[in-house]
Amino acid sequence: MNAPYPWLEANWQRLLSTRTRPAQALLLAGPRGVGKGALAQAWAQALLCEAPLPEGAACGSCPACHWFEAGTHPDFRLVTLQEKIGKDGDVKMATGIEVDQAREAVDFVQLSTYRAGFRVVLVNPADSLNLASANALLKVLEEPPLNTVFVLVSDQPRRLLPTIRSRCTRLDIGLPATDTAMQWLNGRQIEDAATLLALSGGAPLDAWNWADGTELDERRSVLEGLARPGQLDPISLAERWKAIKPQTWHTVAYKWLGDLLAVRLQGRVQFNRDFADVLAQLGTQVDLAKLLALAKSHAESGRTLAHPLNRVLQQEAWLIQYRHLFD
Ligand SMILES: [Zn+2]
Repeated sequence: MNAPYPWLEANWQRLLSTRTRPAQALLLAGPRGVGKGALAQAWAQALLCEAPLPEGAACGSCPACHWFEAGTHPDFRLVTLQEKIGKDGDVKMATGIEVDQAREAVDFVQLSTYRAGFRVVLVNPADSLNLASANALLKVLEEPPLNTVFVLVSDQPRRLLPTIRSRCTRLDIGLPATDTAMQWLNGRQIEDAATLLALSGGAPLDAWNWADGTELDERRSVLEGLARPGQLDPISLAERWKAIKPQTWHTVAYKWLGDLLAVRLQGRVQFNRDFADVLAQLGTQVDLAKLLALAKSHAESGRTLAHPLNRVLQQEAWLIQYRHLFD
């Protein structure tokens, strides 16, 4: 079995070489959109497989592999964000991993294994552990029971408790080389792969997501509004954009501000190359101090994205502030 994505091959081989004596707590760290989650899943399956290939990868056909692929392996637990039903009946993703989930994982590793092999707990995204759930897990990370392997996956390893990080063997997954990423995207018949890859900061799976969904149209709608601050009407735009997912809006606006900052400081457009001309022009008009203030508050607001109170009003306020960058 190959690595889940071609750019992960070296890391995959490195993991496989440890299959007989794996790290009991592994942290896969690196940017979003590079396949850390898929690598973690493949590694868990390799550890649980009962007839592994000579190099250590899962066979894909033994009973353990079948259970794993069906999501029913009794010696595997995935600890992740759960969907919740809100008061209004909407299904929302929880913003953190709850302490009950961590306690359940702790209980799980203290049972004897169902099969004779390893037991694997995958925590993804590990930076979503709150203080209570992190502390609950810490107890077993300090002294994991025999044959137990924890795999933690994180885009933001700095947000993990230092005590958790220090228990883990860390494997950093970097961005792939542009050539490798482009080759992979081109193999998927993606139009304008170079623009999408730049937009995603070099992360191929993010680029692939952009190509796949409606988000690209939403991005264009947002950027066409932001490209003309003089004519921008905060009230009607906020109303029009309220259906866009908070995460999409936040990312698009964040990258736009980042590009404005880059051109203002004589740098090159990093993300929105298809808007390079507009950005170059806006960069000569923008007030640097105000831009820095907006970029900073925008970055901070990303932490509370899951609770957008008065979304339309917030967005209006943002747009008014944005318009003033060009007074
Ligand atoms: Zn197998």
